[in-house]
Parts: sequence; structure tokens; C-alpha cells
Amino acid sequence: MRSMTSLIDAERYSRQIMISYFGEEAQEKLLKAKVVVIGAGGLGSPAIMYLAAAGVGKLTVVDFDTVEKSNLQRQVIHSGRIGWNKAESAKEFVESLNPDVKVKVLKEKIEPENVVRIIENHDVVVSCPDNFRTRFILNDACRILDIPMVHAAIYEFEGEAMTIKHSPCYRCVYPAAPPSKVPGIIGATAGVLGSIQAVEAMKIITGIGNTISGLLRIDLQNMEFFNINVKPNESCPVCSGRIKRIHLENYSDSCKVVKFD
Ligand SMILES: [Zn+2]
Repeated sequence: MRSMTSLIDAERYSRQIMISYFGEEAQEKLLKAKVVVIGAGGLGSPAIMYLAAAGVGKLTVVDFDTVEKSNLQRQVIHSGRIGWNKAESAKEFVESLNPDVKVKVLKEKIEPENVVRIIENHDVVVSCPDNFRTRFILNDACRILDIPMVHAAIYEFEGEAMTIKHSPCYRCVYPAAPPSKVPGIIGATAGVLGSIQAVEAMKIITGIGNTISGLLRIDLQNMEFFNINVKPNESCPVCSGRIKRIHLENYSDSCKVVKFD
């Protein structure tokens, strides 16, 4: 039921509106927000699920990949949709969960040439790719455009998350990418980290609480959580303003910055 005084579906969101410091004010901010989720895989699935359930009004889902049977162990929003494009499948899931949410589907791979067009005009970027190159492209573009970004990555029982609103950024921690391979992943690890990304995005939008300071590292095999202090890296080419645009040359092999300004 929608209340007489606002357009908010008070029944749907009652359990979050009843939180005294959340209320209808925060709910309205969520309903007006525009969030882009890059990747509808292991991290993107829980992130999209909780952002949509919470009533984030506009979700852009970017994924060029197709749902495979081996994805369903962790990418639970794609249930029953093997063979679908993942962004299309995510839209189908969200529309059946919460009709308040408008989903825009982009069946694209993030590249230096399209990243600005894809992420501009969004309030938050939720970074859920499975490769370092996309993380670096997103980090650099978010800093240049001054859009908050919530990063996460997973490996077996482990994960990390970082919320980047200004310096330090992802490149302050990782100036270049290590060699990568397809990791084993426990599905619930993706669930934990993707859920953390959703709640971080909600806090950025509503202004409630404090986002992760530094780098959060999680080891679910031993159930240990670490908050690693991260200082701005003086030699970071992004935070020092030495790159002002996205250059293709900076995203080959290790993604080390070789072309400036
Ligand atoms: Zn930096």
C-alpha cells in the first residue's frame, strides 16, 4: 500500500523505513538513485538482488556474457535462465522482485573507449568484474569523473572490498595487475562480498553510516576480517592528477600507466 503523503510503497520497505535514522527520507533517496553494476556474475548477482530489493530506482546492468550451468553455484539470480545474456537475465529477476526498479541492460564489455559513456550520469559504480583490466579501467574513469565506486574481488574462501570516493584509489593499492587465472570460488563468498557492495552503495546514496575505510580483507575459511589501512600513494598517476583521460595504452598486460594526461 502506498501512503497518502508520499509515493513510497510503505509496506514493501517497512522493515527499513522503521529504522529511526533511515525512514522515508533515505527511502526516497534510494528510489531516486541511479546505480550502475558492472558484471552480473558472482558479485553482481547478490549486489543487484539487494540493491533492487532495497528500492534503488534505476539500475544499469552491464554484462556481455551468457549464463552457463557452472555459474548457478553462486550466481543465483539467473536460476532457470541458462543461455540468456546475464544482464537480460538480471533485468528479468529484478522486474519480478520489485516493480519500482527500472533496469537498463547494456550487453557490452567495459573498454577504454566506452567506459565514460556507460558510467557517466550514475550516482555510484558497483564494480563486479572477474578481471583486473576492467577494475583498472573503472577505477581510473571513476576518479576522473569523480563518481564513487565500490570495488570487490573474490578468490576461493577469500575476498576484498574497497569503497573509493576520493584518494586513495584502487591504483594506490595496486599500481599494476598481477598475472591472473580463473579462481575457484565458494558461492557464499561471492554472496558476502556482493552484499557488502550493495550496503556500501546504499550508504553512499543515503549518507547513512561510514563506508569501508581502507581495504577490507575477508577470510571466510578461518572467519577473519581485516581492515587494512590504506594511505594515498604519492606516485599514484590517478590521484596525483597525472592522467586526466582514459588512454587505451594504459590497459594492456599489467595495466601499468604508460601514457599520461
Ligand atoms: Zn590513487
